[in-house]
Amino acid sequence: MNPIESPEKNKVEKGTLYLVGTPIGNLSDLSDRAKKVLSEVDFVAAEDTRNSGKLLAAFGIKKPMVSYFEHNKREHGEQIAARLLAGESCALVTDAGMPAISDPGEDIVRLCAERGIPVSVIPGPCAAVSALALSGLPTSRFVFEGFLSTASAERKASLAMLKNETRTAILYEAPHKLLATLRDLYEALGDRKISLCRELTKLNEEVVRTTLSEAVTRYENGDVRGEFVLILAGASEEECRKSAFWADWDVPAHVAYYVDTGMTKNEAVKAVARDRGTAKSEIYNQVMKK
Ligand code: SAM
Repeated sequence: MNPIESPEKNKVEKGTLYLVGTPIGNLSDLSDRAKKVLSEVDFVAAEDTRNSGKLLAAFGIKKPMVSYFEHNKREHGEQIAARLLAGESCALVTDAGMPAISDPGEDIVRLCAERGIPVSVIPGPCAAVSALALSGLPTSRFVFEGFLSTASAERKASLAMLKNETRTAILYEAPHKLLATLRDLYEALGDRKISLCRELTKLNEEVVRTTLSEAVTRYENGDVRGEFVLILAGASEEECRKSAFWADWDVPAHVAYYVDTGMTKNEAVKAVARDRGTAKSEIYNQVMKK
């Protein structure tokens, strides 16, 4: 429905947690509704009370604040939930963008859901979706990877998943880790297309639409500054086939594999045809030859 025609949810309710999206670099992106909710709730829970205090001050909003971040989220989450259950209303904000997307928030939303506490959203800027829209890469199907882990085994597992991922992938990265991440992506995935979206909504906003090899060269030779979202093209069907579990098998071995899993021969032929992007009749011919 056109938003002009739909009834709005505007009243700040007691006992409700509000997830409030805040600017990712441009103060003008704080919505009127966000300002209203921040002004009317009983208290604000913030990832960094100093940062968010400055944001509120810029709009002349004074509110009691509590901190809620990675290392106190269990204890403070309980305290916030108790205050909500006692009837207070709370706005959750993070350093930038949409709370709960690669920053604290996910856990308190789960806690509220478990305790029957209403949670409402005040949508605002999100670096991931803004970058995706700007990337020039396919947007109809995408996955959000967030920050790649720095732990070796987890990082390798994520890279292996991305190798066969046909959807466009969204990654966050800190500037000092960008080059290492680009090198790892290039090594694991080959020369995929990538759009590097930097400093979105800020004075130096920039989108570099390039390939992984060129991105490595570019950032090896230059300063890496600012905040980045990486939008990575998905694998082509051809790439997926090359790295599939059956890539080294001939057609009869591939059919035999599915038959061993309990499929009928007909079902197995169909599955193999789908895997290989070939006609069923061609698979039949090759199985019959043997
Ligand atoms: N919850 C936030 C969101 O959804 O927009 C993201 C928080 S996450 C801790 C921070 C990461 O978001 C940064 O490391 C960067 O990858 C990305 N980011 C945030 N602001 C950005 C901006 N203005 N331009 C590009 N990337 C940004």
